[in-house]
Amino acid sequence: MLLDRLGVRRIPVPVPFAEAGGPANVYVIEEDGGGLALFDAGIGTREGRDALLAGFRAIGRSLGEVRRIFVSHGHIDHYGYARAAQEESGAAVYAHARDHDKLTGRDRTRQSLARLGAPREALAHVRLHWQDAQRMARPIEHVEPLAEGTRLRFARFSAEVLHLPGHTPGLVCLWEAEHGVLFSDDHLLERVSPNPLLDLEGQREPTHRALVEYVRSAHRARQLPVQLVAPGHGEPFSGHVELIDRLLGFYEKRQARILELLADGPITPAQLAPRLFPRARPTQLYLILSEVMGNLEVLEERGRVHREERNGCIVFAGDVG
Ligand SMILES: [Zn+2]
Ligand SMILES: [Zn+2]
Repeated sequence: MLLDRLGVRRIPVPVPFAEAGGPANVYVIEEDGGGLALFDAGIGTREGRDALLAGFRAIGRSLGEVRRIFVSHGHIDHYGYARAAQEESGAAVYAHARDHDKLTGRDRTRQSLARLGAPREALAHVRLHWQDAQRMARPIEHVEPLAEGTRLRFARFSAEVLHLPGHTPGLVCLWEAEHGVLFSDDHLLERVSPNPLLDLEGQREPTHRALVEYVRSAHRARQLPVQLVAPGHGEPFSGHVELIDRLLGFYEKRQARILELLADGPITPAQLAPRLFPRARPTQLYLILSEVMGNLEVLEERGRVHREERNGCIVFAGDVG
């Protein structure tokens, strides 16, 4: 198939969370003059490592041949094994500057959730989740920048780095224009919505408006003449325009529901969350708060809601019109 002709092999590695949308893909790419590059590096669990090493054996290659490691974004299922792969090969690790703190272990997003009105016992679950995360991804000491517009040359194709923030602030995709292949990682997934997540980028208030940025990035990806999407989870697929339209329609519906709920008066994102997701478990707090906050920020940008400060928390109120 097309990826083979481009000198690309996909190795799926298992990840221990259902929301991810299946095993995470590591793309192994032939480098010019021998050696290999990775687009994403899998996760640092024993199962992740075993699957990656088995995948390398199956294609008759080894980790020691890796020359460059490109990380699509700062989530542990994409960079978790990068440190180990780097130690094995001496390869440099590249990621967009806005996700560097995640890869180097300096991200402080979890401190922000209290400001959204999240109760203390719920935060304990989030903290546990983060401790788990630390075990699946060793921090990387030194990360090289990977900027929008950079052209990456490999043995059989070249690709442009597209910075498409949303799912994380520093998410990048690789765009191979000649055959129309978009290496989309978690920006576009066939079966799950990409959960633009709350992110502080080291600030006290979120500066990254995840869903506002995601919607803008999705419109940008929609314009590309994509023939094949090589995603971060699951099999390659086509039909990205229909997928993006469906997703944007789904967010519109959710925003309409939020406006209905706000008609009862101003509330915090954490109070809104269980009304929007009555069946969510406490462990899903971070995901559902991200979803609520993201949609509120889109509504805020459109002038449909505004925020106020109340007892050290942020509350949102609907605007008529
Ligand atoms: Zn992700
Ligand atoms: Zn992922």
